This record gives sequence, structure tokens and C-alpha cells, in this order.
Amino acid sequence: MEILQVKQIHKIYGEKENKVYALRDVSFSVEQGEFIAIVGTSGSGKSTLLNLIGGLDVPTRGQIIIRGHDIASLKRKELTIFRRRNIGFVFQNYSLMPVLNVYDNVALPVTFDRGKHVDHDYIRELLKELGLWEKRKRYPSELSGGQQQRVALARALANKPALILADEPTGNLDSGTTVEVMGLLKESSRKYNQTILMVTHNEALAQACDRIIRIEDGKLYRSGKVPAAETAAASAGKDGDCL
Ligand code: ADP
Repeated sequence: MEILQVKQIHKIYGEKENKVYALRDVSFSVEQGEFIAIVGTSGSGKSTLLNLIGGLDVPTRGQIIIRGHDIASLKRKELTIFRRRNIGFVFQNYSLMPVLNVYDNVALPVTFDRGKHVDHDYIRELLKELGLWEKRKRYPSELSGGQQQRVALARALANKPALILADEPTGNLDSGTTVEVMGLLKESSRKYNQTILMVTHNEALAQACDRIIRIEDGKLYRSGKVPAAETAAASAGKDGDCL
């Protein structure tokens, strides 16, 4: 089943002589449960694409359909609720709440989604897997960058969202933690049939995904399956230092 359709998306920032064509006629579909890497040089349009899919910005042209909903047709409040229920964000700036401790930051999306019962066992499991359980009563300012990044990841997973949008989720982590975070994402995706779109600069990590979408100069230029042999080779490299 297709969870996401990106249809002929164009995104232009600025006007007249300041126009920047960030995305040009980008189209692709994603099946539920796929783990996709989005790869491209800096400035190629990767973050723009994630922002549009997450409904944080609107395309100049084209449509984004998530679980059958054209997100442009949702009213602001509907979009906020839709996003909270369906999408987990792991972005660069972490956007953790400074006044909440680690545990409460992670539980926040579930608490916001009032109809939902907070699954404390699952949150404890996530924090333990990410090596954050001992830090659960600490505040973001008391944590390192890598720890904050892991809190942001736990928060994105806490609601068991159908779609996870991750912008360099391992960018700030050492190679050992990177392997753990990738393992957690893969396991979560398999267990809950979650779809993950992950921007990465790391070719070895990209090769460990189900599919790589490459963007250059705002254009999608290759979107194909990673051959099984390459996936196996990249997974086999997990214990080495190539990641
Ligand atoms: P990437 O994530 O691949 O580094 P971005 O999506 O951030 O690329 O940027 C794509 C292009 O759009 C770049 O040329 C960037 O300078 C431009 N851009 C991104 N955001 C804005 C913005 N808010 N206003 C104007 N230009 C922007």
C-alpha cells in the first residue's frame, strides 16, 4: 500500500532576480514500511523536500498525498492533528522543550494527542535502547549534542507514527551510536510497519536502506531499489568502522 505520493512538486523561494528553484518537478511514491535514504549534496533540496512532506511549508506547485490525504486540502488545525498522529520528525535543531526533562520531552507528542493513552512501558523501552534511561530526569541543557539528538529520536518514535521524517538523524553521533540508532530505526520500522525517509550524507548508511532517492540541483535523478547484495554488504559492515 502506498503511504506517500509526491506529485510533480516544484518549490521556488524568493522572487524575481532572487528566485531559487529548490525543487523541480519531483515525483515519487513510497510504500508503507519502506526505509528510504535521501541523498544529495548540500543545497540540492533535501531539507526542502522533507519540510514539504511534513507540511511545514507549501510547494509552489504539485501535490503531496499522505495516507490518501492531499495535505494542502487540510485546514491548519486539521494539519496539526494529522501531523501529530501520523508523522514523527527528527530534525537537526532537535527542538526539545528546555523546561521539560528527558522523559517528559519524549512523552510530549503522546500527551498532546489527548485521545491516546501514554504507553509508559514503550517510552521506558525506547529510552533504555537509546542509553537515555539514566538521564530521564535531566533537562536538555544538561545533555551533550548526541544525547539531545537521541532524545529527539525517542520523541519522534514515541507516538509510533506511520511516517518518520529524519534529517541527518545520526549526523552528530559517533560511529557506535550511529549503528545503534540505525538498528533502532530499522527495528521500529519493521515492528510497526513504519515508513522512514532519512536524509543522509553517509553512503554506507544509505546503502543499508531499502531504496535511495538521489537529488541534485532540485531534481530527482535516481530512485531505485538497493540490490539485496549491497544491503547485505552494508549490514555486514556494521561492526567495522565504515559507518
Ligand atoms: P539541502 O537540504 O539539500 O542542503 P535545502 O533544501 O536546504 O538543501 O536548500 C535547497 C536550495 O534552496 C538551496 O539553494 C537553498 O539555499 C535554498 N533555500 C532553502 N531554504 C530557503 C529559504 N527559506 N529561502 C530561500 N532559499 C532557500
